[in-house]
Amino acid sequence: MPSFEAPYAFGTPQAKIPPPEHGLIPVVKRVHTDKPYVFITIDDGQVPHPMALDLMRRSKTRPTLFLTDRYVEGHRGYFKDLRDQAGATIENHTLSHPNLRGKPYEVQHKEICGASDAYQREYGKRPVLFRPPYGNYDDTTRKAAADCGIKALVLWTETINDGAMQFQTGTKLKPGDVVLMHFRKTFVEDYTAFLTKAKEDGMTPVPLEDFLTP
Ligand SMILES: [Zn+2]
Repeated sequence: MPSFEAPYAFGTPQAKIPPPEHGLIPVVKRVHTDKPYVFITIDDGQVPHPMALDLMRRSKTRPTLFLTDRYVEGHRGYFKDLRDQAGATIENHTLSHPNLRGKPYEVQHKEICGASDAYQREYGKRPVLFRPPYGNYDDTTRKAAADCGIKALVLWTETINDGAMQFQTGTKLKPGDVVLMHFRKTFVEDYTAFLTKAKEDGMTPVPLEDFLTP
């Protein structure tokens, strides 16, 4: 399994989150960098795979976890271990994974703030990044997220399913790409597919939070 040496000390801010436009937080699909860095993000939390911690530690990668509180409930210690022992970061992916687009402000605010409140309470740190379920959002989402303390809405450029990377364009990882996978039964295959492809394309996975700092 490929492993990666940090090109800088983790936690050293490399780039800041762009300021809000017209009072709306920015939507980030890819990170602006000319260096060979890519970002791995893992969503939902439905299957707390027992090999995840080992894979993250052995590969020296620090993913961003966009967690849905409904799936985190009952497994809070599992995700805390990924954070404390592998350096993963816990971010916001709503309370119950609804399609937010078109929903009233109150509904969106409750879904986003509810998860941020829970993670702040359980993990001692309030999320700064938010990923809308299904990638669906509207201006109300960007407003509600801002009001919950979120600084950026994060989408993705590639997905991994059943151990295979799926590209929106081309066949190689490029600087600034944000890769999406999920906590599923195929975690080992999916994570390994990412690590292998990153190595093959000369990219180093680094923490998203170092490039999207408030
Ligand atoms: Zn999701």
